[in-house]
Amino acid sequence: MSKTIVVTGAGGVLCSTLAKALAKEGNKVAVLDLRKEAADKVAEEINADGGQAIGLAANVLEKDSLEQAKKQVNAIFGKVDILVNGAGGNHPLGTTSNPFLEAADLANKTEGFKTFFDLDISGIQFTFNLNFIGTLLPTQVFAVDMIGRENCSVLNISSMNAFTPLTKIPAYSAAKAAVSNFTQWLAVHFSQVGIRVNALAPGFFLTDQNRSLLTEEDGSLTKRGQQIIDQTPMNRYGTPEDLVGTTLWLCGDGSKFVTGVVVPIDGGFAAYSGV
Ligand code: NAD
Repeated sequence: MSKTIVVTGAGGVLCSTLAKALAKEGNKVAVLDLRKEAADKVAEEINADGGQAIGLAANVLEKDSLEQAKKQVNAIFGKVDILVNGAGGNHPLGTTSNPFLEAADLANKTEGFKTFFDLDISGIQFTFNLNFIGTLLPTQVFAVDMIGRENCSVLNISSMNAFTPLTKIPAYSAAKAAVSNFTQWLAVHFSQVGIRVNALAPGFFLTDQNRSLLTEEDGSLTKRGQQIIDQTPMNRYGTPEDLVGTTLWLCGDGSKFVTGVVVPIDGGFAAYSGV
């Protein structure tokens, strides 16, 4: 491959690994992140390793910011061939304290304790915006470059919770379901102009985002962390490197008749009924 690839959220745990893997294949990678220092650090590491990358500040929720980034990508690396929509995440205000509502919970006035009825709409909106609008808007800005050219594609990052929602995180589960649904819609919409659209659905990866939910301070698993492992036939958490093979396949010409798929990378979590 020798393509120009934009990766959003590429200062983060999973997408920094994807940006580096794509650069290793000879692609020119624009590393975009809200956190400019994080983007620069990843780009520097790629360049130090003999690859070609630039770090750029960009907010996936602001069209102007994305347009500015695009101008720089076009000036330095030319037209964009591939977009990886990696920015995403959850918000604590869209998360319930317990997996199941119990009548007694309604009387629990402990500070910070949240039932479904206490969910703050700002946390729900934050999560929907970041995952769904934060996928749609960069696609509007960058996919324009791909029209009528060969071997161009968009890769979204959904989640295994898009197939079956996880307890406690209704907003994040629904927002990722929207990303999967949009992946199929866009694959059809773009099918006549040569742009393929696919998505990864990662299972559980231990990252800063979820470490406190899944591990205790001494490194042992929390109850929820153990539940996840018990539900994962391959009996472990994913590592960022587990996403690389599928990413190279979906961004490469080996998948040129593949569009509209959402690939679970979850050690069998979504396939397992638990019995
Ligand atoms: P991360 O928090 O390490 O990385 C996300 C990056 O996005 C951060 O660098 C952050 O600065 C950036 N970002 C946040 N808001 C932004 C904005 N408005 N504009 C631009 N950049 C912004 O998270 P991660 O675990 O690497 O997750 C990457 C993707 O994978 C996300 O879409 C996440 O929802 C998804 N995912 C993660 C897991 C997991 O277990 N970690 C599982 C399934 C899906």
